[in-house]
Amino acid sequence: MAQNLYTDTRGLTAQPITFTEAVVNGLAEGGGLYVPEHIPTLTLDDLLALAELPYAQRAARIYKAFDIDLPAETIDALMAQTYGANFDDERICPVTSLTATTHVLELWHGPTSAFKDMALQCLPRFFSASANQLREQGKLNHEFMILVATSGDTGKAALEGFRDVDGVSIGVMYPDGGVSDIQHKQMATQRGENVQVWGVRGNFDDCQTGAKNVFGDNAFATRLLEEHGVALSSANSINWGRLMPQIVYYVSAYAQLVADGKLGAGDELDVCVPTGNFGNILAAYYAKRMGVPLGMLFCASNENRVLTDFINTGTYDIADRDFVLTPSPSMDILVSSNLERQLFELTGRNAQAIAGWMNDLRTERRFRVDENTFAQVRATFASDSIDNATCLETIQAVLDEHDYLMDPHTAVAYRAAENLRGENPVLIASTAHWAKFGDNVYRALHGIAPGAPLPADVAALSGCELNELIARETGHTDIPQGLAELDTLPIRFTEVIDNGTADIEAAALDFLRTLQANATDD
Ligand SMILES: *Cc1c(COP(=O)(O)O)cnc(C)c1O
Repeated sequence: MAQNLYTDTRGLTAQPITFTEAVVNGLAEGGGLYVPEHIPTLTLDDLLALAELPYAQRAARIYKAFDIDLPAETIDALMAQTYGANFDDERICPVTSLTATTHVLELWHGPTSAFKDMALQCLPRFFSASANQLREQGKLNHEFMILVATSGDTGKAALEGFRDVDGVSIGVMYPDGGVSDIQHKQMATQRGENVQVWGVRGNFDDCQTGAKNVFGDNAFATRLLEEHGVALSSANSINWGRLMPQIVYYVSAYAQLVADGKLGAGDELDVCVPTGNFGNILAAYYAKRMGVPLGMLFCASNENRVLTDFINTGTYDIADRDFVLTPSPSMDILVSSNLERQLFELTGRNAQAIAGWMNDLRTERRFRVDENTFAQVRATFASDSIDNATCLETIQAVLDEHDYLMDPHTAVAYRAAENLRGENPVLIASTAHWAKFGDNVYRALHGIAPGAPLPADVAALSGCELNELIARETGHTDIPQGLAELDTLPIRFTEVIDNGTADIEAAALDFLRTLQANATDD
């Protein structure tokens, strides 16, 4: 077979490129997203055989099926590091069955207790190995600085993924005062020699705009490269190296359910995913394309229901849509960037159509897909949006019925699955440990309305103390160590900066100088 190369969703890449190049580039020239030319398929036997392997080897098998241009032994070694003792369960992402036909795929056993770890423990290793290989091939001669603007979860998962990775440093900006106590401490106590964290004056939007402006500043890029030998990069969810690891857990979960006697070999399994940027659910789609017998893909939204409306009407419209705050902030989104890859696939890879719709979205804040594509959307997906009060009620209801404590994102998916499901058993993607969102779990358990203040004595607790209180009240004492220990770790990062382009650039340069000075000291 010829090598599996990468093109892009808008058809603007001049020459198809390799996996390693796609990982290092991130975004394609012209703004499209990279996709592999060829999606491999597995036979049912290949698929079921995965259940006999540890998770790291399941992942390695999938990447080799995609024919990525890293040596097989490199892939094996990287996956052993990626999915090992850094997870608190040797199954990596175990499936808990609430009933014979309702299964929960727990994607939060990684170091930061959110599903972003499934991809962000992997991407940095691909990134570093890819950059090394390109350097050896003479195609690259610099190092990288990853710059991330975060509303909370992604920043921590990226820090933990890139910490002490060769040839890469990482700086994360979060809105000062705009993240929870747990999220703040997770970032401010971050370990590692190549990491930096800044609070930014302003809200998340200011933070993100600041980062975008820095990425768009060519003079700054030239200066970084010429004076420091460093190029800026982002770790966002449009990178193919971040998407591919997510395919693995759907393949793996299906094989595991069959091996555990919970599902007949070849039987259809529907999947329900709490969706924001559309990365997680797109990975389920690719797993289905690879031959996993998945049925309908249920796209669960919170009150930010742009995706639900799109799947139900064929029109994606953000022209008159307000951004709503919800108990599931990682799904609070208007522009779902990975939807572009999904539409590319559902149109039979019609790059021209995609380029047109993305242009409509930019200029008119909406686009409408053609009838054929809409029929494909309807055949593949169903969607429901769950309001804030129902989300919190669901946490309490599932605890009462199944003695299982869910985070608000998972609760949105659970309720959407109940509303949408038919005959098939359902796999629910659980994307965070409840203790990452203790304030809203407390509201759920005490009948406090979404957004209403907590009682003064509860509001005075640290995030860790609040989690301990919930653990005592519910008997769910399984708080991951990485969250439980936060009050005892030293705060390493306290710097707060302004959100102007020059302020962020100055902070980034300071960070680089410190790093490079330390490196020469050694
Ligand atoms: C990022 C995130 C999501 C949304 O996933 P997408 O891949 O962006 O659709 C859902 N839940 C949690 C907890 C997340 O961190």
